[in-house]
This record gives sequence, structure tokens and C-alpha cells, in this order.
Amino acid sequence: MENLVRIDKRYVWHPFTQQEEWVKNFCESPLVIAKGRGRTLTDSRGRTYFDGTSSLWANVHGHRHPVIDRAVRSQLRKVAHSTFLGLTHEPGILLARELVRLAPKGLARVFYSDNGSTAVEAALKMAFQHHRQKPGKPELRPEFLTLENSYHGDTIGSVSLGGIGLFHAKFRPLLFKTRSVMSPRCSACPYNRARTGTSPAPPVFYRYRGERPRPGDVRAETKCRWECLGQVESALKKSGRRISAAVIEPVVQGAGGIVVMPPGYLRGFADLCRRAGVLLIADEVATGFGRTGRLFACGHEGVAPDILCLAKGITGGYLPLAATLATEKIYRSFLGRHEDFRTFFHGHTYTANPLACAAALANISLLKKNRSLAKVKDAAEALRRALAERVAAHPRAGEIRQAGLMAAVDIVEARAGSRPFPPGARAAKRVCMKLRDEGVLLRPLGDALVLMPPLTSTPAEMRALAGRILRAMARVRWNAFS
Ligand SMILES: *Cc1c(COP(=O)(O)O)cnc(C)c1O
Repeated sequence: MENLVRIDKRYVWHPFTQQEEWVKNFCESPLVIAKGRGRTLTDSRGRTYFDGTSSLWANVHGHRHPVIDRAVRSQLRKVAHSTFLGLTHEPGILLARELVRLAPKGLARVFYSDNGSTAVEAALKMAFQHHRQKPGKPELRPEFLTLENSYHGDTIGSVSLGGIGLFHAKFRPLLFKTRSVMSPRCSACPYNRARTGTSPAPPVFYRYRGERPRPGDVRAETKCRWECLGQVESALKKSGRRISAAVIEPVVQGAGGIVVMPPGYLRGFADLCRRAGVLLIADEVATGFGRTGRLFACGHEGVAPDILCLAKGITGGYLPLAATLATEKIYRSFLGRHEDFRTFFHGHTYTANPLACAAALANISLLKKNRSLAKVKDAAEALRRALAERVAAHPRAGEIRQAGLMAAVDIVEARAGSRPFPPGARAAKRVCMKLRDEGVLLRPLGDALVLMPPLTSTPAEMRALAGRILRAMARVRWNAFS
């Protein structure tokens, strides 16, 4: 197996990876994953690990789930791939109906692609083209409204929406124009700092420009006047007519560090868009399929977007597939004779791959039964408690954020003022490397440890995970790099 690593280092270029460090074994030595079962992955040397990232936020019911395995195998006996351009097939048809039935109200049509970035890319073009050819009053709206600290994928369109400097700033000259407004991160709010940014529990809902914050709400500790929503309102007032759509990761900004929005923000954001006549694109690539404890995060606040982007968990983490759902109104604006050229000229070779659609149908059938979402809430509550009661007390643990089974623990040099380590210290990364010895795989985001366990994780596994994190943190030589 040493041989495999040598070949990897000779031929492969890994995503989001400094290859110079990878090749030199700086900080980490490559693990060759050989197999998986349930929440566990096994490497080529036979060591097993808890899959704490759900194989990059995608896995839902665990690896080698008999129901999904069977669905893929049975489709494989029919056909592995046949195009969706001008032809159709059963798994693609049935999955579309299933997605429309489950999705927030009003979403009526399913456009397939194969990853989160392409789901967003399709949504952008759809929104833009819709305005150009909508009946009555066609409009040219070349801009999009986005949030700072947002992440929507790595293709140029989705990078244009992105607000993470480290990933996106370098490409600025290539990108189209967007208006961005502040990220609703209460603990870093320049107007009023809430003391913590932990997940809002119990959720309280109130309206922008209506009710005052109530006790138990992170906003109640401050003099918050929804300055973040105020920015959305002024941006829409100023440029609304040039903006095709506002794009948001509902409830949690994922790659931005698992930033949980205060309750009421999403609802307020959606209402402002609706009033301004700007389409709302919900990017639920990370939050969809139960991750936050609801099937879709929009459901926490009863928000019905005009366009919904789904990927990551859609196949249970088995195969690349994505879907962009649109309302009937948007869909209808694309209808006409061929020579009207209102067609959505967009699509990919592997759009609606039948094997992936079969996996997605099996994934959804599992999500619908066995109290699976109630179990997610139980595991999430166990994780919340374990982090609050055990990990939070560690002197290097900073802010802890969580929504359902998405959580982050900031690793800080000093808790007072949440002073971060210098970037070269790679503090969270070092904790992750020690965690491998504890039998856990995690991947950090900057200085945050990200916990994204499969949705079938048990409360006992969540408590064990917190214990393993503490043991790993005890073994990091903090003084060596502060
Ligand atoms: C991961 C992610 C994407 C991009 O998905 P890929 O499949 O990696 O292209 C887009 N949006 C959000 C919110 C994501 O978390």
C-alpha cells in the first residue's frame, strides 16, 4: 500500500490541497481509504475511523447501506447511463416527482446536474434568463445579491457569489458583479455583539421591523435592530431592479465556518426579496436532506424559495447528482416554439445519471421512515450537550456553533477575545491529525474543527466523539506554535 501512496504523490493533484505539503507529509501522511461500512471507514492498513465529515458532508445513512447498495445494483443490471437530453428514464422521472413532493411549497420542476456548483450555476442562469423573457415586462438584471462569508461552489458563476476571501479573492478579475451584504453572524456583529453564537435553542421567530427580541434569543442580549436585514433592504432598494436573484445558504453558512443565522433572519430575508420582486435562490447543497434536523433548512422558518439547489446528501453520499428546483412561474417563462429561442440551453453529459437517481430514491425512502429526522434531533442534542459540557471548557476551545448535525468548534490561542492562532500554526489541522490516532476523521475549515457526522449517528457516538476530541486536544503540543 506504500506503493499506492507513492503513485498518488507522483500522479494525483488533490482538491483544496497544498500539494507541496501533501507530498512531503507535512502535518499529515496520506491515508488510503479502502472500504467503509456504516459510519466507519477503513484504511489500507486495516485501521478504522469514525467518518466525522460524512465524506465531505455528503453521507446520510452510512456507507454500504443495504437499501442504497441494492438500489444501485439493481439499476446497474438495467443501464448505468443514458442521456437526459432528448430522452428520459424511470429513476430520473420518479426522483423528480419525489423531490417536488418533499420540497418547500411552490417548487414544481426539477432540473438535474451533477454537483453543488453546477446546481447553483444552473440556478443563476435560470434566474437571469427568466427575467429576460418573463411575460409582460422582460428585464435585463445582470446582478445578484449575496452574503459575505458565503460559499456556493467553485465554478466561476458560483465563485462570483462567494464571499470567502481565501478561496475567492484571487479570481475577482474574472467574476461578474454581485452586491454583498453582511453575514448575519451575531457573535461577530460590528453593531451589537451577542456573547455566543451557539445554535439558537429553542428557536424563536419574530419579524423584521415587527417584534422585539425575546428572552432566550441571542439578539435579546444586545441592542439589535436587525442591522443585517437593514443592509438587505437598502441594497434591494438601491439596486433591486438590476438584481436577478438573492442567493442564500438557509440557516447555516457552511464552508464559511458553520455560521448559524439568528432565528428570523431567513424569514426576513425572504420577505424583503419577495417585496422587491427579486427571486430567492436557496442553496441547500449542504443543509438539505435532514442535515439541520429538518428535511430542508428553509422549513425551519417556513420559507418557500423560487429556486432550490440540492446536491451533497441527495444520493445519501453515494454518487454525484444535483438538482435545481424551480417554481412553475419560472418554468413557464421558458415555454414557446423552438424558434422563439426561450429554451434553457444548458445541461451536462451525465445529467440525471440513472445510477445516481436510483441511489437518491433509496436515500429518500430511508429518510421518510424509521423516525429518521427525530433521530437526527436526538443525536444533535447529544452532540450539543457533549460539546457544551466537555469541550467548551478546554482553554483552546473558542466559539462553538451548531445546527442539527453540523457543528464547529473554533480552536483559539486564548479564549479571552477569542484570539486566533497565526495561520501557519494550523491549529485545527493539528487537532484533526491527532484525532486520527483516536480513530476519527475530521477536516478543519481554517481554525475551526468541523463536525459533520452521518445522520444515523447515535447519541452515544456523539458523546464518544466529544471525548475523543478532548483526548486529541490534550495531545497537541500547543506551545510549539503559539
Ligand atoms: C459544497 C457546497 C457547494 C458546492 O458543491 P460541490 O458539489 O462541491 O460543487 C455549493 N453550495 C454549498 C452551500 C456547499 O456547501
